[in-house]
Amino acid sequence: MAAEIIDGKRIAADIKREVLGGTKAFASAHGSPPGLAFILVGNNPASESYVRSKGKACEELGFYSVTEKVPAEIPEKDLLAMVHRFNADAKVHGLLVQLPLPKHINEQKVIEAVDPKKDVDGFHPFNVGRLVLGLDTLKPCTPAGIQELLIRSGNDPAGKHVVIVGRSNIVGKPIANILLQKQSGANAVVTVVHTGAKDLTRFTKEADILIAAIGRAYAITGGMLKEGCVVIDVGINRIDDPSTPKGYRLVGDVDFESASKVAKAITPVPGGVGPMTIAMLMRNTLEAAKRFQ
Ligand code: NDP
Repeated sequence: MAAEIIDGKRIAADIKREVLGGTKAFASAHGSPPGLAFILVGNNPASESYVRSKGKACEELGFYSVTEKVPAEIPEKDLLAMVHRFNADAKVHGLLVQLPLPKHINEQKVIEAVDPKKDVDGFHPFNVGRLVLGLDTLKPCTPAGIQELLIRSGNDPAGKHVVIVGRSNIVGKPIANILLQKQSGANAVVTVVHTGAKDLTRFTKEADILIAAIGRAYAITGGMLKEGCVVIDVGINRIDDPSTPKGYRLVGDVDFESASKVAKAITPVPGGVGPMTIAMLMRNTLEAAKRFQ
């Protein structure tokens, strides 16, 4: 039987509606809306497109938002000074420095310069530490979105074997730490796989829930999955496609066609994890604003 599609667009729209309600209440209580600032360094087309989409979500939800676009050559000290200015700006409750940054800038230094209270990306070591300890914190947006997708699609991870392929600081490690907590919406048995694994299939075949955050098109195929599993495809990969106006299209890390014949439920790309990332950013900003008052 064909897998049920986990509709990230619909679930993200639900979350945005909830955030809109919270935003109206916040604005009427405090006289101004939640505020989100973006710093965009250089002209990376993917980064520009991400910041545009996030700015659009701010408009939709009635947030105050500001984007500082600076040239790729900006000296590190000037970028840090800009971060400090936003840290001190009372209208701004969330600050996002779009990554990646040019090579001459120490990315970790910039991440650590953001006030942890405004760290709506959840990348600051203070917030990462709280996440690992299972304490209340601003969770990184993509992993938080994956958890919401599982819960809201009726696939509670509690007691399930979750296998995560990928151990990056922005997806693999945080989602592992979120799902292993002894908390509702979590409490899973978690395995993290990476290039050190000699036989990837040995692990993926054991997954009740498979999370692919690899960055390689079609790396996971149906033959690598357990019958009836749930598949969350985080990957966003460009592949050439001369039949499209842009000459390329976006695909996930999972071969949707073969995987959807084996899985019970699966996220599409696009329209799965992607929209959730932005919805969770909006929720984090509202949350940061509430905590500030
Ligand atoms: P990274 O490149 O930082 O990490 C990829 C991870 O996959 C690494 O841990 C790597 O292992 C592992 N890996 C790569 N190849 C294999 C393999 N053959 N077998 C096992 N493990 C492998 O990627 P990100 O985590 O940043 O992103 C992953 C994907 O998710 C990308 O396609 C990205 O575009 C997408 N993404 C989507 C988002 C969304 O909103 N939907 C948000 C963020 C990312 P090792 O550590 O050993 O090198």
